[in-house]
Amino acid sequence: MQYLHTIRRRKSRRIQLGDVPVGGGAPIAVQSMTNTDTLDVEATVGQVRALADAGADIVRVSVPTLDAAEAFGRIRAAVDVPLVADIHFDHRIALRVAELGVDCLRINPGNIGREDRVRAVVDSARDRGIPIRIGVNAGSLEKDLQKKYGEPTPAALVESALRHIDILDRLDYPDFKVSLKASDVFMTVDAYRELAGQIEQPLHLGITEAGGMRSGSVKSAIGLGMLLAEGIGDTLRVSLAADPVEEVKVGFDILKSLGIRSRGINLIACPSCSRQEFDVIKTVNELEARLDDINTNMDVAVIGCVVNGPGEAREARVGLTGGTPNLLYVDGRPDHKVGNETLVDELERAIRDKAREIEAAGRS
Ligand code: SF4
Repeated sequence: MQYLHTIRRRKSRRIQLGDVPVGGGAPIAVQSMTNTDTLDVEATVGQVRALADAGADIVRVSVPTLDAAEAFGRIRAAVDVPLVADIHFDHRIALRVAELGVDCLRINPGNIGREDRVRAVVDSARDRGIPIRIGVNAGSLEKDLQKKYGEPTPAALVESALRHIDILDRLDYPDFKVSLKASDVFMTVDAYRELAGQIEQPLHLGITEAGGMRSGSVKSAIGLGMLLAEGIGDTLRVSLAADPVEEVKVGFDILKSLGIRSRGINLIACPSCSRQEFDVIKTVNELEARLDDINTNMDVAVIGCVVNGPGEAREARVGLTGGTPNLLYVDGRPDHKVGNETLVDELERAIRDKAREIEAAGRS
């Protein structure tokens, strides 16, 4: 029996990025961002596809210039996953990508400048059904807010967001989402908690500049985990100084850990100790590398000995318990004995068979 904990999600208004809904009870969307030169259309298309293959629901692409806007149009035409254009200040870029095709504009209305320019961007978004993402970042708070608060604080982040939101409210444009990112976990969490009670729009979660692969993943898991466990958050990005594909994987791992959303294999493995009957760590590493392509949602247990092995294996779709002999379980029942020399091959085969069976059952 799996323990089921229910997270009551904050109610939010739904927006639509292409065919991906965000908010309003939709599955929490996992995002990442390309780090190629947007002018290099081929490289960027390649990275967008790699991110989509890894499960990204939405991909953000920087569009710093009008030339990049033209390149963005070609990238958009070459991929299926919804794309967010990341734009700062220059409303002409927003207008151009809207014309060429974009699924969301990441632009802060308060940074565009003149009222007529803001109105032109919002009208273009409205005409085409393009939502806007307001993105507040502790590193780029408005000067007067920096002065007022002395340093970035949750209240400063929220005040900054409310300024941008106020502009969209005045233009009667409710189709937006908001992010409030800081690299400090508690600052980010407190800011989102505060804003969550003040607006109905979906929230895009992230800890900005979280760090490298390991420290950034841990920081993101703690910060996003706190919010997600409270039901806050409609889409997320894990920011890592690493290959963006890793951001998508870590994003799913966070959702998987909270039982919110699954993709691929959920590997349950013991840390191993001197009781292990086979090399658990080597087996797990090899399995992870071999099974990267499987998107089927399933639990697999790899446990070194009979202390915890049978209990975990009985709860998993496929399980392996160390012993003399080692026992491979399928659907919670002992299936056959396996020797140490062939156990990775046998596990892989059993997992692939089970994944095919689950997929076929899903189709029928
Ligand atoms: S399950 Fe067995 S091998 Fe694994 S850590 Fe526990 S006692 Fe050690």
